[in-house]
Amino acid sequence: MKKMVVLGPPGSGKGTSTRKIAQFFNLKRITVGDAIKEEIFKKTKLGQIMFNFTKDGHFIPDEMVVKVLQKQIKNLKGFDGFIIDTAPINLEQKEIMKNLNIDCAILLNIKNFDVVRERILKRLMCPKCKLVTSKTENKTGICPNCGSNLEKRYDDNLKVVNKRINQYLEKTLPVAKAFKKEGKLLTINAEENREKVFSQIKAKINKFFAEKSLN
Ligand SMILES: [Zn+2]
Repeated sequence: MKKMVVLGPPGSGKGTSTRKIAQFFNLKRITVGDAIKEEIFKKTKLGQIMFNFTKDGHFIPDEMVVKVLQKQIKNLKGFDGFIIDTAPINLEQKEIMKNLNIDCAILLNIKNFDVVRERILKRLMCPKCKLVTSKTENKTGICPNCGSNLEKRYDDNLKVVNKRINQYLEKTLPVAKAFKKEGKLLTINAEENREKVFSQIKAKINKFFAEKSLN
């Protein structure tokens, strides 16, 4: 079983990377946003409580976020583990997630934040199949998977991006440092192109679990 999380600032390629990791290592990909939406859609007790929080414009408490993740992890049939995208985003969540026994965290590290600012401002998304691409990669504005018109994400503007970068630096970077202290951080240079990023990830995951099995 591989139990992993991915950390990184906005625009570091968390979605793309976790999809590739999940596929390559046969892991269940869990994103906090989708997991919460699923609970709300299914109208579970937890889903209804969370819906009331979001409806009033409040953040969902960390305990509930972790509960949602636990429910997702209970059902790993057919998978060799899981990879979580977008949690833990702060030290409080990391603490509550202790009982998930995470093996390691992958940090999609960015040093020059102009790289992610540029990536995000050029980012295009398919409203139907959720494909993420960019104005550089896709000149037609049409989704190559399903033919829908690609759109800019509503929150991809400079003000919002800077706010999310600051949140990352203040809240999430300390999480990466804590994993590092525990000897559980795999740091990836995420300023490289997608192929190079993924080959670094593969190599580091393989090395980590090979060494772990020796202990
Ligand atoms: Zn599409």
